Amino acid sequence: MSSGPGPDRADDPFGRSDMERMVGDIDLGPYLGRPVDPLAEPLARPVVVDPQTPPLLALRDLLADPRFPGLFQRALRAADPDFRELFPRDATGVLSQFVRAMTWAFETVENSGGDRAQVDEVVEFARHLGADHRKLELSGRHHTRFGEALVDTLRHLAGRGWDDRLATTIDTAYRVMSAALQEGSAAGQGPARIGATVVDVLRPTRDVVVVRLISDVMLDYHPGQYLSVLTPYTAGVWRRLSPSIPANPACQIEFHVRDVPGGALSGSLVRGVGVGDRWVLARPLGLLEVDRTEPFRDVLMAAGGTGIAPLRCLILDMMRHGFNPRVHLFYGARHPGDLYDLPTLVDLASTAPWLTIQPVSEEDVDPWWAGPRQDLPRTLHRRQTGTLVDVVTGWGAWADRQVLLSGSPEMLRATVRGMVAAGTPRENISYDRP
Ligand SMILES: Cc1cc2nc3c(=O)[nH]c(=O)nc-3n(C[C@H](O)[C@H](O)[C@H](O)COP(=O)(O)OP(=O)(O)OC[C@H]3O[C@@H](n4cnc5c(N)ncnc54)[C@H](O)[C@@H]3O)c2cc1C
Repeated sequence: MSSGPGPDRADDPFGRSDMERMVGDIDLGPYLGRPVDPLAEPLARPVVVDPQTPPLLALRDLLADPRFPGLFQRALRAADPDFRELFPRDATGVLSQFVRAMTWAFETVENSGGDRAQVDEVVEFARHLGADHRKLELSGRHHTRFGEALVDTLRHLAGRGWDDRLATTIDTAYRVMSAALQEGSAAGQGPARIGATVVDVLRPTRDVVVVRLISDVMLDYHPGQYLSVLTPYTAGVWRRLSPSIPANPACQIEFHVRDVPGGALSGSLVRGVGVGDRWVLARPLGLLEVDRTEPFRDVLMAAGGTGIAPLRCLILDMMRHGFNPRVHLFYGARHPGDLYDLPTLVDLASTAPWLTIQPVSEEDVDPWWAGPRQDLPRTLHRRQTGTLVDVVTGWGAWADRQVLLSGSPEMLRATVRGMVAAGTPRENISYDRP
């Protein structure tokens, strides 16, 4: 590393050397006991704002600038010490989701052409989000500081292009969104967060854990719903997980978690979870359910990997009823040995004449490194080889079924696309969005 004048000093807009730049980039706020203003220096290359662009779209373009998540994260940290704990250390993932949501909101309102229903959809979305944010226990002060940091960051990115039009528009938009978020949060009932203790951990495959917990109080979720979960393995990272057993007065709850390579939480959870750990569970959400309106419509379920959790929860709940629609469950994974829940499903099917299991795997045999081969239990239908979508659509259009899907974002995308192309009416298919 060079320390004097040289190419790297010339590259820096403020003429600093590598060392000066590095030290300048360190957030010294926590050590000095006062926050460092990350937006103090004007940007060398602000975003060009065309005064002819409608203000909502100009704000969307400022949000889309690749510098936004990093600058906003630092502005938030300086705005309120609580934000250091509320956001994970690397908050760019969660802030990218914020950018996606705001982009959708700004574009929907801009393109609504005065259609009240479309604007209401945005407000309803913010209320829904607010209900989920209840778990964060935000106060009015947090909302105010968040809004101030947002406006400061956008103004900073626009430089001299910032004008009254943009200031008024973001002020109004944020006030509407923040009011809806707070309304949604206030409408929730029961405790915002419930503690739970890990009481058992099973490791059915090399990359899946089954975690059993006892919650401090009973969590009343519907079968098929998911919960927001905060664990000690990656600080500040909330993720959605689906209970695999119905809610019960003994407060038992079970999750199946797969290690998603490169993910922020799942790998450290799968490697680190142990008996005695404390988790935080928040409000149940999600709309996956079996329609029991009579006359029954038969059900097609397709689960990829740990996507089996909410579907087996629905099946376990159905076992409590005397009569049920027929359920045909396609259970898929990469290798045959990854179908870890098959023994339980086969046990269930042996006492449920309405339930048929079709195992599916993309590969025909397990890889050598997966350990000793386990024989799969016998099912009525033999395992088929292929992707879930190919095997499901190979049976036909399933046009008369209610279709419930659960799995990775790619599995959901491919299965919905493939089934619709094969003739399944889109409105018959339900799944919770990734
Ligand atoms: C409604 C819902 C219910 C869920 N239920 C469960 C569950 O019961 N068990 C479970 O293990 N996971 C479940 N998930 C996924 C879970 O919330 C996390 O996204 C997943 O554990 C990865 O988290 P991460 O922090 O490790 O990765 P992230 O940092 O969030 O993501 C890393 C990358 O992996 C992709 N990704 C996310 N989920 C998957 C996946 N399942 N397979 C492949 N790629 C993925 C993301 O799109 C991203 O590109 C559910 C997700 C949703 C939306």
